[in-house]
Amino acid sequence: MAMGERLYRTSGVIIKRFDVGEADRVLTILTPFGKISANARGIRKTASRLAGHLELLSFCQLQLAIGKSRDVVTQSVAIERFEAIQQRLYTMAASYYLTELTDNFVTDSDIASPALTHLLASLHMLCQPSQTEMVMHWYTLQLSDVAGYRPQLFDCAVCGSRLDEQTDRWSIAQGGMLCPDCVRADPKAITISLALFKLLRFVQREPLATVAQTVQPFALHTSAFQLLQQWVVQHSEQPLRSAVFFDDVRHKEYQDTVEIEHGQ
Ligand SMILES: [Zn+2]
Repeated sequence: MAMGERLYRTSGVIIKRFDVGEADRVLTILTPFGKISANARGIRKTASRLAGHLELLSFCQLQLAIGKSRDVVTQSVAIERFEAIQQRLYTMAASYYLTELTDNFVTDSDIASPALTHLLASLHMLCQPSQTEMVMHWYTLQLSDVAGYRPQLFDCAVCGSRLDEQTDRWSIAQGGMLCPDCVRADPKAITISLALFKLLRFVQREPLATVAQTVQPFALHTSAFQLLQQWVVQHSEQPLRSAVFFDDVRHKEYQDTVEIEHGQ
């Protein structure tokens, strides 16, 4: 390390990485004070001191040097690697989805700290016996909330009146559910099932520990993913590329479960 380099320490989760040059890797790290892009020089060399500490999902304690274009990781220790997630393709695919969502939404440093808290809670939950889809819906709604895009599920998005179970219209443009009097406010509003409406309200209202233990039918999750993906893509103005891979893995996972239940 050269004399006079300005150093700082932080903790953070590696939410994206790509290889550059012969042995370097550029990391996107979600820290409590913002998202940073940092170079891990020489990390792909076998003898690198950084290797093994800076994998995707790892929650690390880091020391960085302020660089001209990009900061440089000078030291790192993994606090938590979330290894249980890496042991199953399904939870791995889910974690790619959550990290991409985080990268897309956290553009403002103000929301980095609550986003990090929710992301860590979700990754911890994916390491335990839990309903993967429920954890993902929960994180999607929490992240939307901290980013300023909380969908209205309890009061009409247009007039603010209390919603009841007659409510069946979802409007991305108006910001959530519409009461029967306000359905004309958005001609593109779609009709959703009462089961989906109840699921969204439950996930938005309840703590993760409760949400993550609730079993729901496959088809209901499919509808929830469709609706929430449209919501986040619209508001983050970014595609969610990992959704396709996750969807593939999810369908395979479901087929396997059905086969086991039928004793095949
Ligand atoms: Zn209304």
